Amino acid sequence: MCGIFGYAGRRHDAAKVILEGLKRLEYRGYDSWGVAVLTLGKIASVKKVGAIGEVVELGLPKSSVGIGHTRWATHGGVTLKNAHPHTSTHNNFVVAQNGIVENFQTLKSRLFNKGFKFQTETDTEVIVRLIEEKLKKIKDFREAVRAAFLELDGRNTIIVLDEFGKIIACRNGSPLIIGTNSEGELLFSSDTLSFANLATKMIVVENGQMVESDGSAIGLFGIKSGRREKVSWEKVDVKSHKVGKEGFDHFMIKEIFEIPQVVDQVANQDKKALMDLSRFVIRSKNVYTIGSGTTGIAAAQIAYFLRHFAKVNAISLVGADAYECYDLFQKGDLMIAPSQSGETADVLEVIEIAKKRGVKIASNVNMPGSMMTKLSDFKFMTGAGPEVSVVSTKVFVAHIAWGYLLAKTIRGKYGEGMGNIKNLSKAIKKYLDDAKNIKSVRDLAKLLMEEDDIYLLGKAQNFQIIREGMVKLIETSYKHAHAMPAGDLKHYAITLMEKGVVVIVAVSADSVRADVLNSVSQVKARGAYVVGISSLVSREFDYFLKVGDLEEVSSIMNVVPLQLLAYYLALGLGHNVDRPRNIAKSVTVK
Ligand code: GLU
Repeated sequence: MCGIFGYAGRRHDAAKVILEGLKRLEYRGYDSWGVAVLTLGKIASVKKVGAIGEVVELGLPKSSVGIGHTRWATHGGVTLKNAHPHTSTHNNFVVAQNGIVENFQTLKSRLFNKGFKFQTETDTEVIVRLIEEKLKKIKDFREAVRAAFLELDGRNTIIVLDEFGKIIACRNGSPLIIGTNSEGELLFSSDTLSFANLATKMIVVENGQMVESDGSAIGLFGIKSGRREKVSWEKVDVKSHKVGKEGFDHFMIKEIFEIPQVVDQVANQDKKALMDLSRFVIRSKNVYTIGSGTTGIAAAQIAYFLRHFAKVNAISLVGADAYECYDLFQKGDLMIAPSQSGETADVLEVIEIAKKRGVKIASNVNMPGSMMTKLSDFKFMTGAGPEVSVVSTKVFVAHIAWGYLLAKTIRGKYGEGMGNIKNLSKAIKKYLDDAKNIKSVRDLAKLLMEEDDIYLLGKAQNFQIIREGMVKLIETSYKHAHAMPAGDLKHYAITLMEKGVVVIVAVSADSVRADVLNSVSQVKARGAYVVGISSLVSREFDYFLKVGDLEEVSSIMNVVPLQLLAYYLALGLGHNVDRPRNIAKSVTVK
Protein backbone atom coordinates (compact mmCIF):
# COMPACT_ATOMS: atom_id res chain seq x y z
CA MET A 1 0.00 0.00 0.00
CA CYS A 2 2.80 2.48 0.46
CA GLY A 3 4.99 4.17 -2.08
CA ILE A 4 8.64 3.27 -2.49
CA PHE A 5 11.08 5.44 -4.41
CA GLY A 6 14.83 5.16 -4.88
CA TYR A 7 17.48 7.01 -6.85
CA ALA A 8 21.07 6.27 -7.87
CA GLY A 9 22.91 8.45 -10.36
CA ARG A 10 25.24 11.35 -10.91
CA ARG A 11 23.18 14.16 -9.46
CA HIS A 12 24.00 15.51 -6.06
CA ASP A 13 20.43 16.18 -5.08
CA ALA A 14 19.15 12.61 -4.65
CA ALA A 15 16.99 13.72 -1.71
CA LYS A 16 15.17 16.18 -3.94
CA VAL A 17 14.58 13.66 -6.72
CA ILE A 18 13.24 11.20 -4.15
CA LEU A 19 11.01 13.82 -2.53
CA GLU A 20 9.47 14.69 -5.91
CA GLY A 21 8.98 10.97 -6.64
CA LEU A 22 7.28 10.45 -3.28
CA LYS A 23 4.94 13.36 -3.95
CA ARG A 24 3.74 11.54 -7.03
CA LEU A 25 3.31 8.34 -5.07
CA GLU A 26 1.53 9.89 -2.14
CA TYR A 27 -1.85 8.57 -3.30
CA ARG A 28 -0.60 5.18 -2.16
CA GLY A 29 -0.28 6.14 1.49
CA TYR A 30 0.13 9.38 3.28
CA ASP A 31 0.18 8.99 7.02
CA SER A 32 3.93 9.45 7.32
CA TRP A 33 7.00 9.41 5.12
CA GLY A 34 10.77 9.44 5.10
CA VAL A 35 13.89 9.77 2.96
CA ALA A 36 17.36 8.33 3.56
CA VAL A 37 20.47 9.24 1.56
CA LEU A 38 24.09 8.23 1.65
CA THR A 39 26.83 10.85 1.95
CA LEU A 40 30.48 10.07 2.51
CA GLY A 41 29.75 6.59 3.75
CA LYS A 42 27.11 7.74 6.21
CA ILE A 43 23.36 7.25 5.92
CA ALA A 44 21.32 10.30 6.89
CA SER A 45 17.54 10.29 7.07
CA VAL A 46 14.55 12.52 7.63
CA LYS A 47 11.13 11.22 8.68
CA LYS A 48 7.86 13.07 9.12
CA VAL A 49 4.35 12.30 10.25
CA GLY A 50 1.55 13.57 8.01
CA ALA A 51 1.36 14.38 4.33
CA ILE A 52 4.32 15.59 2.27
CA GLY A 53 2.22 18.49 1.05
CA GLU A 54 4.28 21.40 -0.14
CA VAL A 55 7.61 20.38 1.48
CA VAL A 56 10.50 21.31 -0.85
CA GLU A 57 13.55 21.19 1.37
CA LEU A 58 14.59 18.28 3.53
CA GLY A 59 17.83 19.60 4.98
CA LEU A 60 19.62 16.40 3.97
CA PRO A 61 23.26 16.55 2.77
CA LYS A 62 24.26 16.34 -0.90
CA SER A 63 24.06 12.81 -2.18
CA SER A 64 23.72 10.79 -5.32
CA VAL A 65 21.94 7.77 -3.90
CA GLY A 66 19.00 7.23 -1.56
CA ILE A 67 15.58 5.73 -0.91
CA GLY A 68 12.21 7.05 0.30
CA HIS A 69 8.83 5.80 1.45
CA THR A 70 5.30 7.06 2.05
CA ARG A 71 3.56 4.92 4.61
CA TRP A 72 0.08 3.55 5.05
CA ALA A 73 0.42 2.00 8.46
CA THR A 74 -0.64 -1.59 8.96
CA HIS A 75 1.43 -2.54 12.01
CA GLY A 76 2.18 0.05 14.65
CA GLY A 77 0.72 3.53 15.08
CA VAL A 78 1.36 6.49 12.84
CA THR A 79 4.41 7.84 14.63
CA LEU A 80 7.82 9.17 13.73
CA LYS A 81 9.47 6.06 15.13
CA ASN A 82 7.33 3.76 13.03
CA ALA A 83 7.86 5.74 9.80
CA HIS A 84 10.18 4.24 7.18
CA PRO A 85 13.01 3.88 6.22
CA HIS A 86 14.05 1.86 9.28
CA THR A 87 17.69 2.01 10.29
CA SER A 88 19.88 -0.92 11.33
CA THR A 89 21.57 -0.92 14.74
CA HIS A 90 24.90 0.28 13.33
CA ASN A 91 23.37 2.54 10.71
CA ASN A 92 24.97 0.43 7.98
CA PHE A 93 21.72 -0.02 6.07
CA VAL A 94 18.12 1.20 5.95
CA VAL A 95 14.94 -0.61 4.85
CA ALA A 96 11.57 0.51 3.52
CA GLN A 97 8.76 -1.96 3.02
CA ASN A 98 5.48 -2.17 1.21
CA GLY A 99 3.18 -4.88 2.49
CA ILE A 100 2.66 -6.99 5.56
CA VAL A 101 5.03 -9.58 7.02
CA GLU A 102 2.37 -12.08 7.98
CA ASN A 103 4.68 -14.15 10.19
CA PHE A 104 6.24 -11.13 11.88
CA GLN A 105 5.22 -12.22 15.41
CA THR A 106 6.97 -15.58 15.07
CA LEU A 107 10.07 -13.99 13.57
CA LYS A 108 10.08 -11.23 16.16
CA SER A 109 9.91 -13.68 19.10
CA ARG A 110 12.70 -15.77 17.62
CA LEU A 111 14.94 -12.75 17.06
CA PHE A 112 14.05 -11.28 20.46
CA ASN A 113 15.06 -14.52 22.15
CA LYS A 114 18.36 -14.33 20.32
CA GLY A 115 19.00 -10.94 21.89
CA PHE A 116 17.88 -8.56 19.11
CA LYS A 117 16.36 -5.35 20.46
CA PHE A 118 13.25 -3.81 18.91
CA GLN A 119 12.46 -0.12 18.88
CA THR A 120 9.18 0.01 16.94
CA GLU A 121 5.90 -1.85 16.62
CA THR A 122 6.25 -2.33 12.86
CA ASP A 123 6.60 -5.57 11.00
CA THR A 124 9.26 -3.77 8.95
CA GLU A 125 11.71 -3.71 11.82
CA VAL A 126 11.64 -7.50 11.83
CA ILE A 127 13.12 -7.35 8.31
CA VAL A 128 15.91 -5.07 9.55
CA ARG A 129 16.79 -7.39 12.43
CA LEU A 130 16.51 -10.43 10.18
CA ILE A 131 19.06 -8.94 7.75
CA GLU A 132 21.32 -8.16 10.73
CA GLU A 133 21.02 -11.77 11.82
CA LYS A 134 21.86 -13.05 8.33
CA LEU A 135 24.82 -10.68 8.03
CA LYS A 136 26.46 -12.41 10.98
CA LYS A 137 26.89 -15.50 8.83
CA ILE A 138 26.57 -14.31 5.26
CA LYS A 139 29.09 -11.69 4.25
CA ASP A 140 27.62 -10.81 0.88
CA PHE A 141 24.99 -8.12 1.42
CA ARG A 142 22.74 -9.17 -1.44
CA GLU A 143 22.78 -12.76 -0.25
CA ALA A 144 21.95 -11.69 3.30
CA VAL A 145 18.97 -9.63 2.12
CA ARG A 146 17.85 -12.49 -0.07
CA ALA A 147 18.06 -14.99 2.80
CA ALA A 148 16.09 -12.64 5.04
CA PHE A 149 13.46 -11.98 2.39
CA LEU A 150 12.94 -15.70 1.84
CA GLU A 151 11.77 -16.01 5.44
CA LEU A 152 8.98 -13.46 5.05
CA ASP A 153 5.40 -14.65 4.58
CA GLY A 154 2.85 -12.43 2.85
CA ARG A 155 2.97 -10.02 -0.04
CA ASN A 156 5.97 -7.80 0.40
CA THR A 157 8.23 -5.52 -1.56
CA ILE A 158 11.27 -4.05 0.12
CA ILE A 159 14.01 -1.62 -0.78
CA VAL A 160 17.30 -1.52 1.09
CA LEU A 161 20.16 1.00 0.94
CA ASP A 162 23.54 0.16 2.42
CA GLU A 163 26.54 2.21 3.52
CA PHE A 164 28.35 1.53 0.24
CA GLY A 165 25.56 2.98 -1.86
CA LYS A 166 24.14 -0.35 -2.91
CA ILE A 167 20.38 -0.52 -3.43
CA ILE A 168 18.68 -3.88 -3.22
CA ALA A 169 14.99 -4.32 -3.87
CA CYS A 170 12.92 -7.50 -3.69
CA ARG A 171 9.41 -8.00 -4.95
CA ASN A 172 6.82 -10.48 -3.88
CA GLY A 173 3.58 -8.56 -4.05
CA SER A 174 3.41 -4.82 -4.38
CA PRO A 175 4.74 -3.33 -7.59
CA LEU A 176 8.34 -2.45 -8.23
CA ILE A 177 9.51 -0.76 -11.39
CA ILE A 178 13.07 0.21 -12.30
CA GLY A 179 13.65 3.11 -14.65
CA THR A 180 16.73 4.41 -16.41
CA ASN A 181 17.77 7.03 -18.98
CA SER A 182 20.63 7.93 -21.29
CA GLU A 183 22.55 9.40 -18.34
CA GLY A 184 22.51 5.98 -16.72
CA GLU A 185 20.50 7.20 -13.76
CA LEU A 186 18.49 4.52 -11.95
CA LEU A 187 15.06 4.98 -10.44
CA PHE A 188 13.19 2.52 -8.27
CA SER A 189 9.51 3.06 -7.77
CA SER A 190 6.10 1.60 -7.01
CA ASP A 191 4.75 2.94 -10.28
CA THR A 192 5.84 4.15 -13.69
CA LEU A 193 4.11 7.51 -13.62
CA SER A 194 6.22 8.72 -10.72
CA PHE A 195 9.38 8.65 -12.82
CA ALA A 196 7.96 9.10 -16.30
CA ASN A 197 9.61 12.55 -16.41
CA LEU A 198 13.07 11.06 -15.81
CA ALA A 199 13.20 7.57 -17.29
CA THR A 200 13.08 6.43 -20.90
CA LYS A 201 13.38 2.71 -20.27
CA MET A 202 12.00 0.48 -17.53
CA ILE A 203 11.84 -3.02 -16.11
CA VAL A 204 8.69 -4.21 -14.39
CA VAL A 205 10.18 -6.45 -11.73
CA GLU A 206 8.15 -9.61 -11.28
CA ASN A 207 7.16 -11.39 -8.12
CA GLY A 208 10.04 -13.54 -6.98
CA GLN A 209 12.69 -11.27 -8.50
CA MET A 210 15.18 -8.96 -6.87
CA VAL A 211 17.43 -6.22 -8.21
CA GLU A 212 20.78 -4.98 -7.07
CA SER A 213 22.39 -1.74 -8.10
CA ASP A 214 25.82 -0.44 -7.28
CA GLY A 215 24.92 3.04 -8.47
CA SER A 216 25.52 2.48 -12.17
CA ALA A 217 24.81 -1.08 -13.29
CA ILE A 218 21.87 -3.19 -12.36
CA GLY A 219 21.55 -6.92 -11.79
CA LEU A 220 18.34 -8.92 -11.75
CA PHE A 221 18.16 -12.15 -9.73
CA GLY A 222 15.64 -14.86 -8.90
CA ILE A 223 14.95 -14.65 -5.18
CA LYS A 224 14.49 -18.38 -4.72
CA SER A 225 17.37 -19.48 -6.93
CA GLY A 226 19.75 -16.58 -6.27
CA ARG A 227 20.69 -16.88 -9.91
CA ARG A 228 21.16 -13.97 -12.26
CA GLU A 229 18.30 -13.43 -14.72
CA LYS A 230 18.19 -11.63 -18.03
CA VAL A 231 17.45 -7.92 -17.84
CA SER A 232 15.23 -6.71 -20.64
CA TRP A 233 14.33 -3.07 -20.72
CA GLU A 234 11.09 -1.84 -22.23
CA LYS A 235 10.34 1.65 -23.42
CA VAL A 236 8.54 3.96 -20.99
CA ASP A 237 5.43 4.65 -22.96
CA VAL A 238 3.80 7.00 -20.53
CA LYS A 239 3.72 10.72 -20.81
CA SER A 240 5.09 12.48 -17.80
CA HIS A 241 2.24 14.02 -15.88
CA LYS A 242 2.00 17.26 -14.06
CA VAL A 243 1.44 16.87 -10.35
CA GLY A 244 -0.45 20.17 -10.43
CA LYS A 245 -4.13 20.85 -9.87
CA GLU A 246 -4.21 23.10 -12.93
CA GLY A 247 -6.21 25.88 -11.34
CA PHE A 248 -8.61 23.65 -9.41
CA ASP A 249 -8.65 23.64 -5.61
CA HIS A 250 -8.40 19.87 -5.37
CA PHE A 251 -7.54 16.90 -7.53
CA MET A 252 -10.98 15.40 -6.96
CA ILE A 253 -12.80 18.30 -8.60
CA LYS A 254 -10.18 18.57 -11.35
CA GLU A 255 -10.66 14.89 -12.10
CA ILE A 256 -14.47 15.19 -12.13
CA PHE A 257 -14.09 17.95 -14.72
CA GLU A 258 -11.89 15.61 -16.79
CA ILE A 259 -14.71 13.06 -17.11
CA PRO A 260 -15.94 14.27 -20.52
CA GLN A 261 -12.45 13.81 -22.02
CA VAL A 262 -12.05 10.47 -20.32
CA VAL A 263 -15.37 9.23 -21.72
CA ASP A 264 -14.31 10.46 -25.15
CA GLN A 265 -11.15 8.43 -24.76
CA VAL A 266 -13.29 5.32 -24.14
CA ALA A 267 -14.83 5.97 -27.54
CA ASN A 268 -11.32 5.75 -29.02
CA GLN A 269 -11.06 2.09 -28.03
CA ASP A 270 -9.10 -0.34 -30.09
CA LYS A 271 -12.08 -1.85 -31.93
CA LYS A 272 -10.31 -5.09 -32.78
CA ALA A 273 -9.36 -5.78 -29.17
CA LEU A 274 -12.94 -5.17 -28.09
CA MET A 275 -14.24 -7.46 -30.82
CA ASP A 276 -11.80 -10.21 -29.79
CA LEU A 277 -12.95 -9.97 -26.20
CA SER A 278 -16.61 -9.90 -27.28
CA ARG A 279 -16.18 -13.13 -29.20
CA PHE A 280 -14.56 -14.71 -26.20
CA VAL A 281 -17.36 -13.55 -23.87
CA ILE A 282 -19.92 -15.25 -26.09
CA ARG A 283 -17.96 -18.52 -25.99
CA SER A 284 -17.32 -18.41 -22.24
CA LYS A 285 -19.00 -20.77 -19.82
CA ASN A 286 -19.20 -18.35 -16.91
CA VAL A 287 -18.36 -14.66 -16.92
CA TYR A 288 -17.24 -13.03 -13.71
CA THR A 289 -16.46 -9.38 -13.08
CA ILE A 290 -14.35 -8.42 -10.10
CA GLY A 291 -13.11 -5.40 -8.16
CA SER A 292 -12.77 -3.88 -4.70
CA GLY A 293 -14.36 -0.76 -3.25
CA THR A 294 -15.40 1.67 -5.96
CA THR A 295 -13.99 -0.67 -8.58
CA GLY A 296 -16.06 -3.49 -7.12
CA ILE A 297 -19.06 -1.32 -7.89
CA ALA A 298 -17.73 -0.63 -11.39
CA ALA A 299 -17.41 -4.41 -11.81
CA ALA A 300 -21.01 -4.86 -10.67
CA GLN A 301 -22.23 -2.20 -13.10
CA ILE A 302 -20.27 -3.83 -15.93
CA ALA A 303 -21.97 -7.13 -15.02
CA TYR A 304 -25.32 -5.32 -15.11
CA PHE A 305 -24.56 -3.97 -18.60
CA LEU A 306 -23.50 -7.44 -19.75
CA ARG A 307 -26.71 -8.98 -18.47
CA HIS A 308 -29.00 -6.20 -19.64
CA PHE A 309 -27.59 -5.36 -23.06
CA ALA A 310 -25.65 -8.49 -24.04
CA LYS A 311 -27.84 -11.08 -22.28
CA VAL A 312 -24.71 -12.62 -20.81
CA ASN A 313 -25.21 -14.04 -17.35
CA ALA A 314 -22.35 -12.15 -15.73
CA ILE A 315 -21.70 -12.50 -12.00
CA SER A 316 -19.92 -9.76 -10.10
CA LEU A 317 -17.49 -10.54 -7.30
CA VAL A 318 -15.88 -8.42 -4.61
CA GLY A 319 -12.14 -9.05 -4.34
CA ALA A 320 -12.08 -9.74 -0.61
CA ASP A 321 -15.11 -12.00 -0.72
CA ALA A 322 -14.81 -14.23 -3.75
CA TYR A 323 -13.74 -17.23 -1.74
CA GLU A 324 -16.84 -19.36 -2.18
CA CYS A 325 -16.44 -19.18 -5.96
CA TYR A 326 -12.92 -20.62 -6.05
CA ASP A 327 -14.19 -24.17 -6.55
CA LEU A 328 -16.52 -23.03 -9.29
CA PHE A 329 -13.82 -21.48 -11.46
CA GLN A 330 -13.14 -23.67 -14.48
CA LYS A 331 -11.54 -23.76 -17.87
CA GLY A 332 -13.68 -21.87 -20.35
CA ASP A 333 -14.62 -19.15 -17.84
CA LEU A 334 -13.72 -15.50 -18.20
CA MET A 335 -12.95 -12.97 -15.48
CA ILE A 336 -13.19 -9.27 -16.25
CA ALA A 337 -11.25 -7.00 -13.90
CA PRO A 338 -11.42 -3.24 -14.12
CA SER A 339 -8.76 -1.65 -11.91
CA GLN A 340 -7.24 1.73 -11.12
CA SER A 341 -3.82 0.45 -10.08
CA GLY A 342 -3.77 -3.09 -11.40
CA GLU A 343 -2.17 -4.06 -8.10
CA THR A 344 -5.08 -4.52 -5.68
CA ALA A 345 -3.99 -7.42 -3.50
CA ASP A 346 -7.48 -8.86 -2.90
CA VAL A 347 -8.24 -8.98 -6.61
CA LEU A 348 -4.79 -10.23 -7.65
CA GLU A 349 -5.17 -13.14 -5.30
CA VAL A 350 -8.48 -14.17 -6.88
CA ILE A 351 -7.04 -13.70 -10.38
CA GLU A 352 -4.07 -15.91 -9.58
CA ILE A 353 -6.35 -18.66 -8.28
CA ALA A 354 -8.72 -18.31 -11.23
CA LYS A 355 -5.82 -18.49 -13.68
CA LYS A 356 -4.55 -21.68 -12.10
CA ARG A 357 -7.98 -23.17 -12.70
CA GLY A 358 -7.87 -22.23 -16.36
CA VAL A 359 -9.97 -19.04 -16.30
CA LYS A 360 -9.00 -16.40 -18.88
CA ILE A 361 -8.51 -12.86 -17.60
CA ALA A 362 -9.52 -9.57 -19.23
CA SER A 363 -8.45 -6.41 -17.47
CA ASN A 364 -8.95 -2.70 -17.93
CA VAL A 365 -6.28 -0.96 -15.89
CA ASN A 366 -5.51 2.72 -15.56
CA MET A 367 -1.92 2.40 -14.36
CA PRO A 368 0.58 1.24 -16.99
CA GLY A 369 2.95 -1.63 -16.26
CA SER A 370 0.80 -3.32 -13.62
CA MET A 371 0.74 -6.90 -12.41
CA MET A 372 -2.90 -7.29 -13.41
CA THR A 373 -2.14 -6.33 -17.01
CA LYS A 374 0.74 -8.78 -16.98
CA LEU A 375 -1.52 -11.58 -15.81
CA SER A 376 -4.21 -10.83 -18.39
CA ASP A 377 -5.08 -12.56 -21.63
CA PHE A 378 -7.09 -9.55 -22.84
CA LYS A 379 -5.36 -6.32 -21.89
CA PHE A 380 -7.12 -2.94 -22.01
CA MET A 381 -5.75 0.34 -20.71
CA THR A 382 -8.28 2.73 -19.18
CA GLY A 383 -6.36 5.74 -20.46
CA ALA A 384 -7.94 8.14 -17.98
CA GLY A 385 -4.58 9.68 -17.09
CA PRO A 386 -3.28 9.83 -13.52
CA GLU A 387 -6.02 9.93 -10.92
CA VAL A 388 -4.32 11.57 -7.98
CA SER A 389 -7.26 12.00 -5.63
CA VAL A 390 -7.70 8.92 -3.51
CA VAL A 391 -11.43 9.32 -4.12
CA SER A 392 -11.91 7.76 -7.54
CA THR A 393 -14.22 9.57 -9.94
CA LYS A 394 -13.07 9.66 -13.56
CA VAL A 395 -11.64 6.15 -13.56
CA PHE A 396 -14.94 4.74 -12.25
CA VAL A 397 -16.79 6.45 -15.08
CA ALA A 398 -14.23 5.26 -17.65
CA HIS A 399 -14.59 1.67 -16.46
CA ILE A 400 -18.37 1.54 -16.61
CA ALA A 401 -18.48 3.36 -19.96
CA TRP A 402 -16.08 0.72 -21.30
CA GLY A 403 -18.29 -2.03 -19.84
CA TYR A 404 -21.30 -0.56 -21.60
CA LEU A 405 -19.42 -0.46 -24.91
CA LEU A 406 -18.31 -4.06 -24.43
CA ALA A 407 -21.90 -5.16 -23.80
CA LYS A 408 -23.11 -3.38 -26.94
CA THR A 409 -20.27 -4.87 -28.97
CA ILE A 410 -21.19 -8.38 -27.84
CA ARG A 411 -24.73 -7.68 -29.02
CA GLY A 412 -23.35 -6.57 -32.41
CA LYS A 413 -24.18 -2.94 -31.74
CA TYR A 414 -20.72 -1.44 -31.48
CA GLY A 415 -21.63 1.59 -33.61
CA GLU A 416 -24.71 2.41 -31.58
CA GLY A 417 -22.77 2.00 -28.33
CA MET A 418 -20.06 4.27 -29.64
CA GLY A 419 -22.59 6.96 -30.57
CA ASN A 420 -24.13 6.81 -27.12
CA ILE A 421 -20.70 7.11 -25.46
CA LYS A 422 -19.92 10.18 -27.55
CA ASN A 423 -23.25 11.75 -26.60
CA LEU A 424 -22.57 10.94 -22.98
CA SER A 425 -19.26 12.77 -23.11
CA LYS A 426 -20.97 15.85 -24.57
CA ALA A 427 -23.82 15.72 -22.07
CA ILE A 428 -21.50 15.47 -19.07
CA LYS A 429 -19.48 18.39 -20.42
CA LYS A 430 -22.64 20.46 -20.85
CA TYR A 431 -23.73 19.58 -17.32
CA LEU A 432 -20.39 20.52 -15.76
CA ASP A 433 -20.04 23.70 -17.79
CA ASP A 434 -23.36 25.03 -16.53
CA ALA A 435 -22.71 26.99 -13.33
CA LYS A 436 -26.36 26.58 -12.31
CA ASN A 437 -25.88 22.81 -12.00
CA ILE A 438 -22.80 23.18 -9.87
CA LYS A 439 -24.50 25.75 -7.65
CA SER A 440 -27.46 23.50 -7.18
CA VAL A 441 -25.24 20.62 -5.92
CA ARG A 442 -23.29 23.05 -3.76
CA ASP A 443 -26.48 24.38 -2.16
CA LEU A 444 -27.64 20.84 -1.52
CA ALA A 445 -24.32 20.06 0.18
CA LYS A 446 -24.93 23.04 2.49
CA LEU A 447 -28.37 21.69 3.33
CA LEU A 448 -27.00 18.23 4.13
CA MET A 449 -24.04 19.37 6.18
CA GLU A 450 -25.68 18.62 9.53
CA GLU A 451 -27.23 15.28 8.54
CA ASP A 452 -25.86 12.13 10.15
CA ASP A 453 -27.50 9.63 7.80
CA ILE A 454 -28.20 9.77 4.09
CA TYR A 455 -30.25 7.10 2.29
CA LEU A 456 -30.01 6.41 -1.42
CA LEU A 457 -32.48 4.59 -3.64
CA GLY A 458 -32.14 3.25 -7.16
CA LYS A 459 -33.15 0.33 -9.31
CA ALA A 460 -31.85 -1.57 -12.33
CA GLN A 461 -29.33 0.62 -14.18
CA ASN A 462 -29.19 3.03 -11.25
CA PHE A 463 -28.74 0.59 -8.40
CA GLN A 464 -24.95 0.32 -8.57
CA ILE A 465 -24.83 4.04 -9.26
CA ILE A 466 -26.44 4.96 -5.96
CA ARG A 467 -24.17 2.43 -4.26
CA GLU A 468 -21.25 4.33 -5.73
CA GLY A 469 -22.89 7.53 -4.46
CA MET A 470 -22.98 5.92 -1.04
CA VAL A 471 -19.29 5.03 -1.23
CA LYS A 472 -18.38 8.58 -2.30
CA LEU A 473 -20.39 10.13 0.56
CA ILE A 474 -18.84 7.79 3.11
CA GLU A 475 -15.32 8.33 1.81
CA THR A 476 -15.41 12.11 1.77
CA SER A 477 -17.99 13.23 4.36
CA TYR A 478 -17.53 10.39 6.89
CA LYS A 479 -21.30 10.39 7.22
CA HIS A 480 -23.30 7.23 7.37
CA ALA A 481 -24.86 6.54 3.98
CA HIS A 482 -27.03 3.59 3.04
CA ALA A 483 -27.92 2.58 -0.49
CA MET A 484 -30.64 0.06 -1.30
CA PRO A 485 -32.74 -1.16 -4.18
CA ALA A 486 -35.75 1.15 -4.18
CA GLY A 487 -38.27 -1.65 -3.84
CA ASP A 488 -36.45 -3.42 -1.01
CA LEU A 489 -36.91 -0.48 1.29
CA LYS A 490 -40.38 -1.55 2.38
CA HIS A 491 -38.95 -4.82 3.66
CA TYR A 492 -36.79 -3.25 6.33
CA ALA A 493 -35.43 0.30 6.14
CA ILE A 494 -38.92 1.77 6.09
CA THR A 495 -38.72 1.59 9.90
CA LEU A 496 -36.12 4.36 9.77
CA MET A 497 -38.20 6.73 7.66
CA GLU A 498 -39.48 9.68 9.66
CA LYS A 499 -39.80 13.40 9.29
CA GLY A 500 -36.71 15.01 7.83
CA VAL A 501 -34.76 11.84 6.91
CA VAL A 502 -32.81 12.52 3.71
CA VAL A 503 -33.35 10.14 0.79
CA ILE A 504 -31.53 10.63 -2.51
CA VAL A 505 -33.01 8.84 -5.49
CA ALA A 506 -31.46 8.39 -8.94
CA VAL A 507 -34.18 7.63 -11.43
CA SER A 508 -33.99 7.58 -15.21
CA ALA A 509 -36.72 7.91 -17.78
CA ASP A 510 -36.86 4.12 -18.15
CA SER A 511 -39.23 1.22 -17.64
CA VAL A 512 -38.69 1.08 -13.86
CA ARG A 513 -39.34 4.77 -13.26
CA ALA A 514 -42.90 4.28 -12.02
CA ASP A 515 -41.77 1.55 -9.63
CA VAL A 516 -39.02 3.69 -8.19
CA LEU A 517 -41.31 6.67 -7.77
CA ASN A 518 -43.75 4.41 -5.97
CA SER A 519 -41.05 3.62 -3.39
CA VAL A 520 -40.28 7.31 -3.18
CA SER A 521 -43.95 8.01 -2.33
CA GLN A 522 -43.65 5.53 0.52
CA VAL A 523 -40.72 7.35 2.11
CA LYS A 524 -42.31 10.71 1.38
CA ALA A 525 -45.48 9.63 3.16
CA ARG A 526 -43.36 9.11 6.27
CA GLY A 527 -41.85 12.56 6.12
CA ALA A 528 -38.59 11.96 4.22
CA TYR A 529 -36.88 14.86 2.45
CA VAL A 530 -36.40 13.58 -1.10
CA VAL A 531 -33.62 14.63 -3.44
CA GLY A 532 -34.21 13.49 -7.02
CA ILE A 533 -31.47 13.01 -9.62
CA SER A 534 -33.29 12.68 -12.90
CA SER A 535 -33.93 14.13 -16.32
CA LEU A 536 -37.61 14.54 -15.41
CA VAL A 537 -39.01 16.38 -12.45
CA SER A 538 -41.48 14.67 -10.14
CA ARG A 539 -43.74 16.13 -7.50
CA GLU A 540 -42.22 13.68 -5.05
CA PHE A 541 -38.92 15.56 -5.15
CA ASP A 542 -38.23 18.21 -2.52
CA TYR A 543 -34.92 18.99 -4.21
CA PHE A 544 -34.25 18.37 -7.86
CA LEU A 545 -30.86 17.81 -9.52
CA LYS A 546 -31.65 17.86 -13.21
CA VAL A 547 -29.46 15.88 -15.59
CA GLY A 548 -29.70 15.23 -19.31
CA ASP A 549 -31.71 12.22 -20.50
CA LEU A 550 -29.25 9.76 -21.96
CA GLU A 551 -31.41 6.67 -22.16
CA GLU A 552 -29.14 3.61 -22.18
CA VAL A 553 -26.25 5.47 -20.55
CA SER A 554 -28.24 7.74 -18.26
CA SER A 555 -26.99 5.85 -15.22
CA ILE A 556 -23.43 6.89 -16.09
CA MET A 557 -24.54 10.52 -16.21
CA ASN A 558 -26.25 10.18 -12.81
CA VAL A 559 -23.06 9.40 -10.97
CA VAL A 560 -21.60 12.85 -11.69
CA PRO A 561 -23.92 14.88 -9.38
CA LEU A 562 -23.32 12.28 -6.66
CA GLN A 563 -19.56 12.70 -7.02
CA LEU A 564 -19.96 16.48 -6.92
CA LEU A 565 -22.15 16.24 -3.82
CA ALA A 566 -19.48 14.17 -2.06
CA TYR A 567 -16.88 16.76 -3.04
CA TYR A 568 -18.84 19.78 -1.79
CA LEU A 569 -19.81 18.04 1.44
CA ALA A 570 -16.16 17.24 2.19
CA LEU A 571 -15.21 20.79 1.35
CA GLY A 572 -17.91 22.28 3.58
CA LEU A 573 -17.01 19.98 6.44
CA GLY A 574 -13.36 20.95 6.20
CA HIS A 575 -12.18 17.41 5.39
CA ASN A 576 -9.09 16.56 3.42
CA VAL A 577 -10.88 16.11 0.12
CA ASP A 578 -8.18 14.29 -1.83
CA ARG A 579 -6.93 12.21 1.06
CA PRO A 580 -9.74 11.06 3.31
CA ARG A 581 -8.65 9.66 6.63
CA ASN A 582 -7.48 6.04 6.79
CA ILE A 583 -7.85 5.06 3.13
CA ALA A 584 -5.28 4.86 0.38
CA LYS A 585 -5.78 4.56 -3.32
CA SER A 586 -3.85 1.52 -4.21
CA VAL A 587 -4.56 -1.18 -1.66
CA THR A 588 -1.75 -3.60 -2.23
CA VAL A 589 -2.10 -5.29 1.15
CA LYS A 590 -4.80 -7.73 2.21
N1 GLU B 1 3.56 -2.96 7.22
C1 GLU B 1 4.37 -1.78 7.13
C2 GLU B 1 4.00 -0.77 8.20
O1 GLU B 1 2.98 -0.83 8.79
C3 GLU B 1 4.33 -1.16 5.75
C4 GLU B 1 3.00 -0.65 5.38
C5 GLU B 1 3.02 0.00 4.01
O2 GLU B 1 2.96 -0.74 3.03
O3 GLU B 1 3.05 1.27 3.97
O4 GLU B 1 4.73 0.09 8.47
